[in-house]
Amino acid sequence: MQVSPVPTLDPETNQIREATANIVNRYIIPNEDRLGDYRNPETQRLRHEIQEHVKAAGLWAPHLPKDGTAGWGSGCMKHAYMNEILAWSPYSNPLFGVVAPDSGNQTILLKYGTEEQKKKWLEPLIRGEIRSCFSMTEPDAPGSDPYAIQTRAVRDGDEWVINGRKWFTTGADGAAFAIVMCRTEEPDGAGGQKEKMTQIIVPTDTPGFRIVRKIKVWGIESNHCEVEYAERPGAGDEPARPDGERPPGGAGPAGRGARVPLHEQTVGQMWRAFDLMVRRSMDREVREREAGDEAVHPGVHRGFVHRHRARRG
Ligand SMILES: Cc1cc2nc3c(=O)[nH]c(=O)nc-3n(C[C@H](O)[C@H](O)[C@H](O)COP(=O)(O)OP(=O)(O)OC[C@H]3O[C@@H](n4cnc5c(N)ncnc54)[C@H](O)[C@@H]3O)c2cc1C
Repeated sequence: MQVSPVPTLDPETNQIREATANIVNRYIIPNEDRLGDYRNPETQRLRHEIQEHVKAAGLWAPHLPKDGTAGWGSGCMKHAYMNEILAWSPYSNPLFGVVAPDSGNQTILLKYGTEEQKKKWLEPLIRGEIRSCFSMTEPDAPGSDPYAIQTRAVRDGDEWVINGRKWFTTGADGAAFAIVMCRTEEPDGAGGQKEKMTQIIVPTDTPGFRIVRKIKVWGIESNHCEVEYAERPGAGDEPARPDGERPPGGAGPAGRGARVPLHEQTVGQMWRAFDLMVRRSMDREVREREAGDEAVHPGVHRGFVHRHRARRG
């Protein structure tokens, strides 16, 4: 990957892009064949080594603030441009300490968690000792509209009783806890459709948490799970944010802020695919070499020009 300064960006953002590309180019892309073998101790050693390079470069956990966490508080746009570089390899994000759904859950816990919740869930999550998951999307409601959520949470003494079904809960199997988006009052009650929602921390070893199945994606079993939150006390008893406040994972500013870096990641994936296409068009042996070049290269060139024009616009 070749990264040159983008004229419309400030010097610091360009410097972050270059420093990130340096690590991705040097340590991640050449090791992609080995980095997926998570259980191998040699891979774990390599991952740890790369993480140390990331920390030494001051690039660890861009989404977290400087105070009291290991992060560096990049802000939305610097994080977004960094994500474009990270997306060149599917292995980059965990090696830079910023991987969904943990990064989103860390942000929620930092903003809304009590001191006790931070100690119990946030700190080990940041240290990488536990994983987490986020349960918003439901089979019977459009995920594009978080206010359509049907999962109910009602108070029973000191506990919340959650009743609902979620799917595409990424990383549910192996997670220590889930943050679950719930409705706490009927839409026709006080507050209407958009109020009376909350997010509740549910430890996954509680009896009310059950993985129904691991959903197949492109025919392959994934860790995007269907999860049932059964009507039993103890399914969740720790509100992660005050009842009635807009859910940050939804349509609020925090939701939008989280999406910009994700969208820029798609741009980075496109660049990697584009790069592979260019290499393939240069290396491929065809009988009618020149005719092939004439057909393919102008198309590749047009794509490159369009992409750069879009960035400057
Ligand atoms: C790999 C993967 C991992 C995921 N991980 C998680 C997770 O960890 N936790 C979680 O809670 N969810 C997760 N999701 C779910 C994801 O958040 C939802 O798929 C997404 O919010 C869309 O919701 P939906 O699938 O219900 O589609 P729908 O909302 O039903 O949308 C269906 C189609 O309608 C279109 N559409 C919707 N609204 C409009 C509109 N207003 N105008 C025009 N078109 C519209 C959409 O673009 C889409 O093509 C994951 C999904 C995938 C694929």
